[in-house]
Amino acid sequence: MHLSVIGCGYLGAVHAAAMASIGHDVVGIDVDERKIASLSKGEAPFFEPGLPEILSEGIASGRLRFTTDMAEAAGAQVHFVGVGTPQVKGGYAADLTYVDAAIDALLPYLAEGDIVAGKSTVPVGTAATLAERVAPTGATLVWNPEFLREGWAVQDTIDPDRLVAGVPAGPAGERAAEILRKVYHPSVGKGTPFLVTDYATAELVKVSANAFLATKISFINAMAEIAEVTGADVTQLADAIGYDDRIGRKFLGAGIGFGGGCLPKDIRAFSARAEELGRGESVAFLREIDEINMRRRDRAVDLVVEGLSGSVFKKNITVLGAAFKPHSDDIRDSPALDVAVRLHGLGAWVTITDPAAIENARRIHPQLNYVDDRDEALRGADAVIVVTEWDEYRRQLSPEHAATLTQGRIVIDGRNCLDAAAWREAGWTYYGMGRP
Ligand code: NAD
Repeated sequence: MHLSVIGCGYLGAVHAAAMASIGHDVVGIDVDERKIASLSKGEAPFFEPGLPEILSEGIASGRLRFTTDMAEAAGAQVHFVGVGTPQVKGGYAADLTYVDAAIDALLPYLAEGDIVAGKSTVPVGTAATLAERVAPTGATLVWNPEFLREGWAVQDTIDPDRLVAGVPAGPAGERAAEILRKVYHPSVGKGTPFLVTDYATAELVKVSANAFLATKISFINAMAEIAEVTGADVTQLADAIGYDDRIGRKFLGAGIGFGGGCLPKDIRAFSARAEELGRGESVAFLREIDEINMRRRDRAVDLVVEGLSGSVFKKNITVLGAAFKPHSDDIRDSPALDVAVRLHGLGAWVTITDPAAIENARRIHPQLNYVDDRDEALRGADAVIVVTEWDEYRRQLSPEHAATLTQGRIVIDGRNCLDAAAWREAGWTYYGMGRP
């Protein structure tokens, strides 16, 4: 099938390349010339495992190309829209400027029978409004939310755990769902659940999934706060409650909390939208979820201060990690980077390292000292804080080896990802989050 993908960021670039890899003919369109230039050469403009491979395969096969010219969307049967929906400046709502601009730019190139498939995360009610704008072209709008996880985006796009299509009632909607089934033929063929809903449900599925995940993380972080005043160990607590399969152990890792380009802005936009709908109280708990999450960053900073006997001023602190999570170079709303910046603000000499995110971090926070090599970054540190649980720190850094590089023996495990006993045994003073 001929497809266009409008917006080639973390979601769109992966979607375009993944659709080409399952046999479609795809044009990726973005307003960012640098991104398009890099994608056209088969180079991923961001770190995502497996993306460079499917990009270059797609380009070499002739099934995948990238352009800044929206006119090239003409002729595609399905147009995916995956542009950004960031938090508005000075508020909590989602900024729909990019979605509106992308749809406006696409309208002249739509033909009777085309499908416009919205993938961006939008406030409930958006699709219904956009459908009215698309209707005069004879195209049909569907809402097809995306659930990919950065770091596993290629796999999640090619082989998702479920597919959701929000369609209008009647034959046009049924036909649109049929066409989307064909687009996703390999996963549909192997029995991946394909749920057809109305627009509002599809939009809500995405934001409620993110609200649930954020709640789960903040729940365990709230337990960490209680553990901290009682001497309990939140990791043991999480293990113990996680054995109950109604609860499950996933997403119960206490630490410095969630960040990234999705969860924080999505729960805020959900609160803002619920308030507009007169149902603010229904998701009022999301404010609390957000606050618990932000408090954990304070806690991590406090632990460093405590570890260094009350002051970090003119102390060498090595921060391991900058990305909001491992296997990604995404630093949008990264708790890791936030902690580093706060320590810098308290007068510490902060050295930060990360296997993938240094370039992005340096662009936003040039005041910090960036070092590519992990061991070089550790050299001479008075204290070390792990803030992104990359394998390079979690599994591959032995406490004995680290001790040969640093000045002090103080480690703060902002992700509860280190073997506390092993670090203590090697002579380190270990601080975890919600652990004695
Ligand atoms: P991103 O910022 O990486 O990418 C957005 C892209 O859209 C940019 O490359 C930008 O240049 C482009 N763009 C903006 N206006 C445009 C226009 N008028 N025409 C063409 N291109 C335009 O953002 P992202 O992380 O890819 O997220 C995109 C959407 O997908 C958001 O709504 C996000 O919430 C949602 N989402 C993201 C993820 C994720 O893991 N990143 C997962 C699920 C859903």
